[in-house]
Amino acid sequence: MYNAKAFSAASASSPLALDTIVRRDPTPNDVQMEILFCGICHSDLHQARNEWSGVMPTVYPCVPGHEIVGRVTSVGNGVAKFKVGDIAAVGCLVDSCGVCSECKQSLEQFCATPTLTYNFPDKHTGGVTYGGYSDSVVVDQKFCFKVPENLDLAGAAPLLCAGITTYSPMHHWGVGKGKKVGIVGLGGLGHMGVKFAHALGAETVLFTTSPGKKDDALRLGADEVVISKNADEMAKHAGSFDFILDAVSADHDINAYLNLLRRDGNLCLVGAPEKPLAVAAFGLLFGRKSLSGSPIGGTVETQEMLDFCGKHNITADVEVIPAQKINEAYERLLNSDVKYRFVIDMASLKG
Ligand code: NAP
Ligand code: ZN
Repeated sequence: MYNAKAFSAASASSPLALDTIVRRDPTPNDVQMEILFCGICHSDLHQARNEWSGVMPTVYPCVPGHEIVGRVTSVGNGVAKFKVGDIAAVGCLVDSCGVCSECKQSLEQFCATPTLTYNFPDKHTGGVTYGGYSDSVVVDQKFCFKVPENLDLAGAAPLLCAGITTYSPMHHWGVGKGKKVGIVGLGGLGHMGVKFAHALGAETVLFTTSPGKKDDALRLGADEVVISKNADEMAKHAGSFDFILDAVSADHDINAYLNLLRRDGNLCLVGAPEKPLAVAAFGLLFGRKSLSGSPIGGTVETQEMLDFCGKHNITADVEVIPAQKINEAYERLLNSDVKYRFVIDMASLKG
């Protein structure tokens, strides 16, 4: 075991602050890395503030962060995939049972006993896992990914959660040429959703509550931008969408989006607001529409997504910040004021 520096929350109401945590020494299948960049996901904020207490109560201290890019500093003797000095990336999962049918299909996100990157029982230390707001981490090689060489490392970090979480449902639901696709909310996930829907050839419409984001959305790849508070603009699209991906972090009216689906269309939730959302049954049954959800992605698909990003030169649009500004970044997330992902430069933890 060794000590690492980290930013942690001590309680649901305390700001994140510099802390010392314990990490395991690498075992034969482990990769140890110096973390270079870690994205700030809205999930980090939900978890740090215990907003998901009903599903995943927070254990304190909590070290969030699951959009990790680092440089390998040591590897166990069973590791062939990485060598010292390589760049490696880690997302939301650091382990799973490995033997269930989901794991055997590389769908580890559906394993009944996964280990998420933070706030999950840590089989090695006996405590909980600590995430990427830290100067180093040790992860089983199976959950470490290769970052295509042409990608900027700070911009690549958010691919590990915002990227895979939007890429995976789009593939599952067949987003591509000839499909009309909506993305709701232009934050970290939403802006990746726009980039992927555009790259996959779909007609892409962005729904936002922030009129000031319109030009950015068009630049990111949207064919059209709808201000969701404008009922007339919304009505023009009634019954026309094949698929809508909802990436909103707070309470909002999803019935407005069900109305925009065509027959057999699907509204897929990736956003995970604190409180339940209301659904009007008639919004679904007229038109045989469906409402679905999707969590992150498995190991094979995560590498596939990274390779797709390498091929299409896709990274997140990021604001790189020092760790000392995490609390300020959280406040800006709550005000929908992020363009379009905060990424912590871990060099700020040195010294
Ligand atoms: P984010 O960067 O804060 O973006 C959320 C966006 O939602 C905002 O930028 C805003 O976009 C919109 N929004 C916020 N409050 C709203 C409100 N009251 N009404 C309508 N729209 C509102 O968050 P994120 O990191 O992308 O995460 C989004 C959600 O996905 C979070 O709940 C997060 O926990 C969840 N998540 C889920 C998974 C998964 O596996 N399913 C993975 C990662 C994250 P506009 O300004 O454009 O309206
Ligand atoms: Zn996330």
